[in-house]
Amino acid sequence: MTNEDTSGFEEERWYEDALGYWSATPATINGMLGGYGSVTSLEAKGSMEFISEYVRGKRGAHNALKVPPRISTQYACDCGAGIGRVSKHFLLKIFDKVDLVEYTPKFIQHAERTYLAKEKSLGRIGKFMCLGLQEFTPEEGKYDLIWCQWVLGHLKDDDLEEFFKRCKKGLKPNGMIGVKENVSVFGYRFDKNDSSVTRYHIYRKAGLSLLKEATQHGMPDGLYEVKMYALEPKITDTT
Ligand code: SAH
Repeated sequence: MTNEDTSGFEEERWYEDALGYWSATPATINGMLGGYGSVTSLEAKGSMEFISEYVRGKRGAHNALKVPPRISTQYACDCGAGIGRVSKHFLLKIFDKVDLVEYTPKFIQHAERTYLAKEKSLGRIGKFMCLGLQEFTPEEGKYDLIWCQWVLGHLKDDDLEEFFKRCKKGLKPNGMIGVKENVSVFGYRFDKNDSSVTRYHIYRKAGLSLLKEATQHGMPDGLYEVKMYALEPKITDTT
């Protein structure tokens, strides 16, 4: 964490406190987004554009395929999935199948029983897992994309590094990790640079390199800047 505003920070209660906070939050789109549920369609479109080149390839003059797709559209994992907002509006629009990992029981139950019940009945959800990312180990070689949105700020630095290392093993050969987060971690007053530097440092330590970075445009004024990152295992990496 930061050496800036650490008032109220109690190391040993870190995950418990977050669970308490989210358990008291309604299982709704607005609950997921602190009242800004209306950004969902714009925000999901931004994510689709962001990964488009990796799933559809890049086209040049006369619509000729310049760069082939990097990943297949078979299987994605939604980390910190909440009620399944990102799965429904983004991942399931592109991928055949999605697994969800979520820490707060009432959210993942709502996803399974209600919000994604139809998608489940169509066989499009592999697993609904009620787990903290600090405990989650993906099956080896399973996913084209592991997507983490508005959740990584909840992981302690060491846990984030270990989580990323496990995720690398959970990817198919060309698979990628996608991250979409506020550049400031909520609840703490990081300055912008400090926050992103800290997180880059962790990506690197975990043996990941940055393929692409973009800003989510069109978010309401007064919110933190939201960034998307595509990460891949370092080619030479042996961890
Ligand atoms: N990604 C979803 C939900 C964002 S809200 C969306 O964009 O709609 C943040 C979510 O992170 C909540 O559902 C909360 O329960 C979950 N969360 C908090 N700490 C977590 C942890 N340690 N592991 C996994 N999920 C966690």
